[in-house]
Amino acid sequence: MKDGIDVLVHEVGPRDGLQSIQTIFPTEAKMDWIKREATAGVPQIQVGSFVPPKNLPQMADSGDVVRQSVNIPGLTVSALVPNLRGAENGMAAGAHQIGVVLSVSEAHNYSNVKRTVAESLDGFSEIVAHRDAHDEYKDIVISGGLATAFGCTIDGQVAPSDVMRVAEEFLKRGADRISVADTVGYANPGQVKALFAELYRTVGTDVAVGAHFHDTRGLGMANAFAALEAGVRELDSCLGGLGGCPYAPGASGNIVTEDLVFMLEAMGMRTGIDLDGLLESREIMERHLTDEPTHGAYVTAGRPLGFQSATAA
Ligand SMILES: [Zn+2]
Repeated sequence: MKDGIDVLVHEVGPRDGLQSIQTIFPTEAKMDWIKREATAGVPQIQVGSFVPPKNLPQMADSGDVVRQSVNIPGLTVSALVPNLRGAENGMAAGAHQIGVVLSVSEAHNYSNVKRTVAESLDGFSEIVAHRDAHDEYKDIVISGGLATAFGCTIDGQVAPSDVMRVAEEFLKRGADRISVADTVGYANPGQVKALFAELYRTVGTDVAVGAHFHDTRGLGMANAFAALEAGVRELDSCLGGLGGCPYAPGASGNIVTEDLVFMLEAMGMRTGIDLDGLLESREIMERHLTDEPTHGAYVTAGRPLGFQSATAA
């Protein structure tokens, strides 16, 4: 954990948000957004995804965006990669953190990448080996992501035992941290609290564990709170809740960064983030959007009378 913060808010909008909408942000627009949000104190931003450009044209400039973002002082730059080739490109561009995600649900994983979970885990090992074979990459953090950990649009329920097995495999294969995602917005707070409690019992409390929630069914912030209660101290979110859910057309995307930061700061948990700066970042982002909805409550209601942010205190 970085100095002076209690919870790490990981902004994923430039990746999760932008990849889910029609508007293609030029590199300059992405950089405007990323720079402003970093200035507001956001410690870590997922700036792109190293997928083939024909699959996701929104992410085609991820190399440039990473190369420019790593020059922003104090910012941890993360990027998502689907395979070894993506990891080679992401590491060469200078990303500080490489996220590799597989679906815990076999059916979902196969429909996404035409690989079994075991094959995806072998792909993960290749990525770790690539990092370890290059001395200049030794500080790169590799994150193992568990998608569909709370349910799946093909299989329905996902067994917690499968989540534990994949988490243990990631760690055995050299993951520096793991991230547990409610990719399709199926989770509820009771389930979240129970799953993370079981996860910590399984992998120990020394492992860095992140959580990634979507607000597809309105439970995103409640799920984030449940994860906090279970001990999670790294949360993904998206400015303005940009993006959506490919499995639920019209639904909202990730939990809203401004609302999350407000909740944490109001509860006395320091994020290092300035809420006014976040609202300015949101304005910058919205300037580049065409016909895409954004979400969030803090932006409409503003600061309550007498509110003290933990970071400012
Ligand atoms: Zn997501």
